[in-house]
Amino acid sequence: MDKFYIEGQLNKTLKKLKDIEFALNESSIVAITDSRGIINHVNDKFCTISKYSREELIGKDHRIINSGYHSPEFFRELWSTIKNGEIWKGEIKNKANDGTYYWVDTTIVPFLDDKSRPYQYVSIRNDITDRKNIEQDIKQMAYYDPLTNLPNRYLLNRRLKEVLLNKNDKHQTAILFLDLDRFKSINDTLGHTIGDSLLKEVGQRLKSCLRETDFISRQGGDEFIIFLDFINCKQEVIKVANRILDKLSPPFFIGNEKILISASIGISLHLIEDKQKINKETVNDSIETLIKQADIAMYYAKEIGGNNYQFNTPVLNEKIVRNLNLEKQLKQALEKDEFSIVYQPLVNLTNGGILRVEALIRWENSQFGMISPMEFIPILEETGLIVPVGRWILKGACNQMKKWRDDGIQLSRIAVNVSPIQFKHHQFIKDIKQILKDTQLEPELLELEITESVIWDIKESMKILKELKSLDVKISIDDFGTGYSSLSYLKHLPIDNLKIDKSFINDLDKDGEVIVKTIIDMGRNLKFNVIAEGIETEKQLSFLKNQGCHIGQGYFFSKPISPQEISELLLN
Ligand code: C2E
Ligand code: MG
Ligand code: MG
Repeated sequence: MDKFYIEGQLNKTLKKLKDIEFALNESSIVAITDSRGIINHVNDKFCTISKYSREELIGKDHRIINSGYHSPEFFRELWSTIKNGEIWKGEIKNKANDGTYYWVDTTIVPFLDDKSRPYQYVSIRNDITDRKNIEQDIKQMAYYDPLTNLPNRYLLNRRLKEVLLNKNDKHQTAILFLDLDRFKSINDTLGHTIGDSLLKEVGQRLKSCLRETDFISRQGGDEFIIFLDFINCKQEVIKVANRILDKLSPPFFIGNEKILISASIGISLHLIEDKQKINKETVNDSIETLIKQADIAMYYAKEIGGNNYQFNTPVLNEKIVRNLNLEKQLKQALEKDEFSIVYQPLVNLTNGGILRVEALIRWENSQFGMISPMEFIPILEETGLIVPVGRWILKGACNQMKKWRDDGIQLSRIAVNVSPIQFKHHQFIKDIKQILKDTQLEPELLELEITESVIWDIKESMKILKELKSLDVKISIDDFGTGYSSLSYLKHLPIDNLKIDKSFINDLDKDGEVIVKTIIDMGRNLKFNVIAEGIETEKQLSFLKNQGCHIGQGYFFSKPISPQEISELLLN
């Protein structure tokens, strides 16, 4: 082969290479490093995107543009690939000289010597910052709560899935379900803008008391879920819960408002004892259960007054699940006609004659059977259902009383229990008037039993009591002695009767005489009728009679009974 031919071929190849280089430089960011990663060539595009001059880059390694975004493992894997002589491809986030970030789609090609060892690396990169930003925005929208910028429930779910599926026996975790106390009233009184700002700041405070490995998300509304990973013991979780409660206790200043808020926290633990295997099929159920358990404990924390934390326990689970089921059933109970009313006689203690009756609600449900009012009345109160149910009882009792009177049965009064929620409801007086009108019952035959807790707001309750008085309806204080009524205002209240709580009558068998005697004396001095409830024995009866208490009720005379039974008793 002649020299010219070879030279010609060489020139052709060189021209081809030059063309490729030109095309590459036009399209891509190119850098060449030696086997240790020291940069010995960069093209213009590299300088433009990294905002470093060629002089600043040559002789350095790629750490100069490291953003800190990727983990050390990421780079270890990269290096082990190219050192093995293989091509590495991936997406890398880099940091430019001015502190801004950019993403590059990267291919690193190792060049091998005759012993197959890399002697240099050529990296070819393309700017994908725009695409990554869009991806990031989409991710942000899908996985983050726009108000607080905290992860949302989907991201929490993803995180929990990841952890639970890869968890070993020694790995312990906890879920804290946090709900702000009385947030709704802040929202209602100060407005949603303030409510939103408050949630934002709460999110920040919560975040500030967590560790790097902990995870916080906003579930929606004023609910947050905190996931504690790698915990060593229950004590550690208690510490976090206390830290959170402490962190929330200083006031928040938002606009011109100073807002005090607290939270209720429910905790479910996933500890070593729980050896239950979680797999791909069961993981969603497990997550739901863990969150539900924390939620249940949170409800209990609220129930005992808020601003505290509670751990989930099996007993608690059972109680709350029962309450939730009862609540579900109660919502349909009126419609399904499951309530009824029984009546307990109030008698003249001197001669045993029946004077009045007290109406008491009963609930019999197909699933749960007979349930005590002590159990379901609080649920009715919590859910507000006590208002329609209370109206139903009042109406039923007044109807019954009217019927008895029309039948010539001698009863001087019917007493109906009224819950504080019902009493304070703005419709209450209107309801009473309407019911009296509909049933045609003379108002003085109706007596309302309220508890001491009703009168905590003396001004407001005085107004309602006076209106009732003006209708000529009678009023009793029920369960007297168990609340905190102060005698000083009791005497100003337009009240007719005091009903001594049955626990005091019960204590007569021990050493309760002084208290009962005191209540009777006081009632008499204030010109109230004193009624004793829960009389069960002859002995209790004679003590009460001797003290001058003239009206009472209790199993000694009769249990609460049906209206027919009352009629029969009175007709005989
Ligand atoms: P309360 O108003 O103090 O009613 C008296 C309760 O004591 C009734 O229980 C009655 O059955 C019971 N009792 C009567 N005599 C005796 C006795 O000698 N010994 C004992 N151990 N107990 C006796 P009940 O019917 O289970 O009602 C419990 C509570 O539930 C009532 O206490 C009242 O606070 C509430 N409640 C019952 N019915 C209604 C209602 O229609 N509306 C509202 N708001 N509350 C009601
Ligand atoms: Mg009562
Ligand atoms: Mg009572």
